[in-house]
Amino acid sequence: MTIETDPGCIFCKIVAGELPSEQLYEDDEILAFKDGSPQAPFHGVIIPKSHIATLNDIRDDQAELLGRFFMVARDLAAEHDLPGYRVVINTNSEGGQVVFHVHMHLLGGRQMQGTLG
Ligand code: AMP
Ligand code: ZN
Repeated sequence: MTIETDPGCIFCKIVAGELPSEQLYEDDEILAFKDGSPQAPFHGVIIPKSHIATLNDIRDDQAELLGRFFMVARDLAAEHDLPGYRVVINTNSEGGQVVFHVHMHLLGGRQMQGTLG
Protein backbone atom coordinates (compact mmCIF):
# COMPACT_ATOMS: atom_id res chain seq x y z
CA MET A 1 0.00 0.00 0.00
CA THR A 2 1.07 3.60 -0.56
CA ILE A 3 1.75 5.67 2.53
CA GLU A 4 0.70 9.29 2.01
CA THR A 5 2.83 11.75 3.99
CA ASP A 6 2.24 15.34 5.03
CA PRO A 7 5.70 16.80 5.64
CA GLY A 8 4.38 19.24 8.27
CA CYS A 9 2.59 16.57 10.31
CA ILE A 10 4.17 15.39 13.57
CA PHE A 11 2.53 11.96 13.41
CA CYS A 12 3.83 11.47 9.83
CA LYS A 13 7.28 12.31 11.23
CA ILE A 14 6.81 9.60 13.87
CA VAL A 15 5.81 7.12 11.13
CA ALA A 16 8.94 8.09 9.17
CA GLY A 17 11.15 7.70 12.25
CA GLU A 18 12.07 11.40 12.12
CA LEU A 19 10.59 11.95 15.60
CA PRO A 20 11.03 9.46 18.45
CA SER A 21 8.14 7.53 19.94
CA GLU A 22 7.64 4.68 22.36
CA GLN A 23 6.11 2.15 20.03
CA LEU A 24 3.28 -0.11 21.19
CA TYR A 25 2.19 -1.78 17.94
CA GLU A 26 3.01 -1.77 14.24
CA ASP A 27 1.76 -3.43 11.09
CA ASP A 28 1.71 -2.44 7.41
CA GLU A 29 -1.03 0.15 7.87
CA ILE A 30 -1.21 1.02 11.56
CA LEU A 31 1.16 2.33 14.21
CA ALA A 32 0.50 2.75 17.92
CA PHE A 33 2.73 4.57 20.39
CA LYS A 34 2.62 6.04 23.88
CA ASP A 35 1.10 9.50 24.13
CA GLY A 36 3.80 12.06 24.99
CA SER A 37 1.56 13.78 27.57
CA PRO A 38 -0.33 10.86 29.08
CA GLN A 39 -3.72 11.59 30.61
CA ALA A 40 -3.99 8.19 32.30
CA PRO A 41 -1.48 5.59 33.55
CA PHE A 42 -1.83 3.95 30.12
CA HIS A 43 -2.35 6.33 27.21
CA GLY A 44 -1.73 5.03 23.72
CA VAL A 45 -2.32 6.67 20.34
CA ILE A 46 -3.33 4.52 17.38
CA ILE A 47 -2.84 6.00 13.91
CA PRO A 48 -2.92 4.99 10.25
CA LYS A 49 0.57 5.16 8.78
CA SER A 50 -0.88 7.07 5.85
CA HIS A 51 -1.78 10.69 6.47
CA ILE A 52 -5.53 11.15 6.89
CA ALA A 53 -6.35 14.45 8.59
CA THR A 54 -9.58 13.69 10.47
CA LEU A 55 -12.29 11.07 10.90
CA ASN A 56 -14.27 13.05 8.32
CA ASP A 57 -11.59 12.27 5.74
CA ILE A 58 -11.85 8.48 6.11
CA ARG A 59 -13.31 7.15 2.86
CA ASP A 60 -15.99 4.46 2.84
CA ASP A 61 -13.46 2.01 1.38
CA GLN A 62 -11.22 2.63 4.42
CA ALA A 63 -13.87 1.44 6.89
CA GLU A 64 -11.95 -1.78 7.49
CA LEU A 65 -8.81 0.18 8.37
CA LEU A 66 -10.76 2.18 10.93
CA GLY A 67 -12.39 -0.99 12.23
CA ARG A 68 -8.94 -2.44 12.82
CA PHE A 69 -8.15 0.48 15.17
CA PHE A 70 -10.66 -1.04 17.58
CA MET A 71 -9.03 -4.47 17.29
CA VAL A 72 -5.61 -2.92 18.00
CA ALA A 73 -7.10 -1.13 21.03
CA ARG A 74 -8.65 -4.37 22.26
CA ASP A 75 -5.39 -6.27 21.87
CA LEU A 76 -3.27 -3.54 23.50
CA ALA A 77 -5.69 -3.44 26.44
CA ALA A 78 -5.30 -7.18 26.88
CA GLU A 79 -1.52 -7.02 26.51
CA HIS A 80 -1.27 -4.24 29.10
CA ASP A 81 -3.75 -5.84 31.54
CA LEU A 82 -6.36 -3.09 31.31
CA PRO A 83 -9.61 -4.53 32.64
CA GLY A 84 -11.47 -1.51 31.30
CA TYR A 85 -10.49 1.31 29.02
CA ARG A 86 -11.77 4.21 26.95
CA VAL A 87 -11.20 4.95 23.26
CA VAL A 88 -11.65 8.46 21.88
CA ILE A 89 -11.30 10.06 18.44
CA ASN A 90 -11.32 13.84 18.73
CA THR A 91 -12.48 15.37 15.44
CA ASN A 92 -11.72 18.92 14.35
CA SER A 93 -10.84 21.69 16.77
CA GLU A 94 -14.40 21.83 18.10
CA GLY A 95 -13.99 18.16 19.00
CA GLY A 96 -10.69 18.79 20.76
CA GLN A 97 -8.42 17.63 17.92
CA VAL A 98 -4.97 19.21 18.04
CA VAL A 99 -2.97 16.92 15.75
CA PHE A 100 -4.60 16.71 12.33
CA HIS A 101 -3.61 13.13 11.54
CA VAL A 102 -6.55 10.96 12.56
CA HIS A 103 -5.87 9.00 15.75
CA MET A 104 -7.61 6.96 18.39
CA HIS A 105 -6.69 7.53 22.03
CA LEU A 106 -6.62 4.43 24.23
CA LEU A 107 -6.83 5.34 27.92
CA GLY A 108 -6.76 3.05 30.92
CA GLY A 109 -4.95 2.00 34.05
CA ARG A 110 -7.27 3.81 36.42
CA GLN A 111 -10.99 4.25 36.86
CA MET A 112 -12.24 6.45 34.01
CA GLN A 113 -14.05 9.45 35.39
CA GLY A 114 -16.19 12.36 34.35
CA THR A 115 -18.78 12.72 31.68
CA LEU A 116 -17.79 12.62 28.04
CA GLY A 117 -17.70 16.13 26.65
P1 AMP B 1 -5.71 15.31 19.99
O1 AMP B 1 -5.99 16.42 20.95
O2 AMP B 1 -6.81 14.30 19.95
O3 AMP B 1 -5.32 15.83 18.61
O4 AMP B 1 -4.49 14.55 20.59
C1 AMP B 1 -3.17 14.70 20.17
C2 AMP B 1 -2.31 13.92 21.13
O5 AMP B 1 -1.05 13.74 20.57
C3 AMP B 1 -2.15 14.57 22.50
O6 AMP B 1 -2.65 13.71 23.50
C4 AMP B 1 -0.64 14.77 22.59
O7 AMP B 1 -0.14 14.56 23.90
C5 AMP B 1 -0.11 13.75 21.62
N1 AMP B 1 1.18 14.06 21.04
C6 AMP B 1 1.53 15.20 20.39
N2 AMP B 1 2.79 15.11 19.95
C7 AMP B 1 3.25 13.90 20.32
C8 AMP B 1 4.49 13.21 20.15
N3 AMP B 1 5.54 13.76 19.49
N4 AMP B 1 4.61 11.96 20.67
C9 AMP B 1 3.58 11.40 21.32
N5 AMP B 1 2.38 11.98 21.48
C10 AMP B 1 2.22 13.22 21.01
ZN1 ZN C 1 0.23 12.88 9.19
